[in-house]
Amino acid sequence: MTAMLPRPTILTIEPYAPGASKVAGVNRITKLSSNEGAFGPPPGAMAAFIETAAELHRYPDGGSTALREAIGARFGLDPARIICGAGSDEILLHLIMSYGGEGTELIMSAHGFTMYDITGRYAGCQVIKVPERDLKPDVDAMLAAVGPRTRILCLANPNNPTGYLLPASEVARLRAGLRDDVMLVLDAAYAEYVTDPSYDAGSQMVDSAPNTVMTRTFSKIFGLGGMRVGWGYFPAHIADIINRIRGPFNVNIAAQAAAVAALAEPGWVEKSIAHNTEWRAKLATALEASGIKIWPSEGNFLLADFTSTERAKAADVSLKARGVIERGMGGYGLPHCLRITVGTGEECTLVADTLSAFMHDL
Ligand SMILES: *Cc1c(COP(=O)(O)O)cnc(C)c1O
Repeated sequence: MTAMLPRPTILTIEPYAPGASKVAGVNRITKLSSNEGAFGPPPGAMAAFIETAAELHRYPDGGSTALREAIGARFGLDPARIICGAGSDEILLHLIMSYGGEGTELIMSAHGFTMYDITGRYAGCQVIKVPERDLKPDVDAMLAAVGPRTRILCLANPNNPTGYLLPASEVARLRAGLRDDVMLVLDAAYAEYVTDPSYDAGSQMVDSAPNTVMTRTFSKIFGLGGMRVGWGYFPAHIADIINRIRGPFNVNIAAQAAAVAALAEPGWVEKSIAHNTEWRAKLATALEASGIKIWPSEGNFLLADFTSTERAKAADVSLKARGVIERGMGGYGLPHCLRITVGTGEECTLVADTLSAFMHDL
């Protein structure tokens, strides 16, 4: 029998390691490993989800029409150039499969989001990870890495896992330095949490610069990670391509209903931003006071730097002993760091107290 083998590049992919959700022997878990919002799902989204139960035999609206209109109204965007997906991961997949592929290069920053690497390799692209300076994307180095075969550059802004926000002027310089036929993918999964007033998540650049796209998600501030719903905003010619190849019913009926309701939830985003801004700062201050280096973050998480791998591992063990699950960063080449989601006030206090005791006992 001849062995059945996938395309060779597939075997170079390490499976994505999702945030853990269980600790053996611990009943009460505080899950701070996947940057899910601090408040659970919006109540209106839960109600809308339940209401769809009687309609589960129906195919969803393949165009996610009501959801695209609600997104367009909320963010002031043309619904015809919005496409919804089963998470923004699905949008990234279609973009990279459509415009990347064998013989092309995809550029990302060294500590950019892993899905660009996984999806780029899946598509057959050569993925180029450009070294950073001080955990910041290096615009000059990324531009210098562009070659004739480069087709896509992916930038998460703010970035996961570092939390770093590349200033608007630097994003503009990046776009201006790229050839028109290199697509700039601005992944704005954490856009709502950003407090920097000069920030544009990407829509202005989508409208003003060539071949720029923005992806967004309902998995973070809108608390719907389990529903798998995200979206992208595109120039018309790219929207046309993605609409040709996406699954005709890619966003399920419950996800569409829950996302529409989440957008309509009164005060949800405001409350989440206020909470995150307050507790991100409090948690950072408390951890720094314990002697842990905290990288500046504009997301709903902090990258805590223990300077040594052993110390990060030991910190992970002491957090897990209290039921707190954060994210080890070995897969991102940062084994001396842990990424911790900003949870409720009580959860932040538990993290701060546990790590204070840990650092004290060293
Ligand atoms: C969480 C996250 C996403 C969102 O993924 P979904 O598929 O929408 O759940 C995208 N990009 C980054 C950088 C993220 O951290």
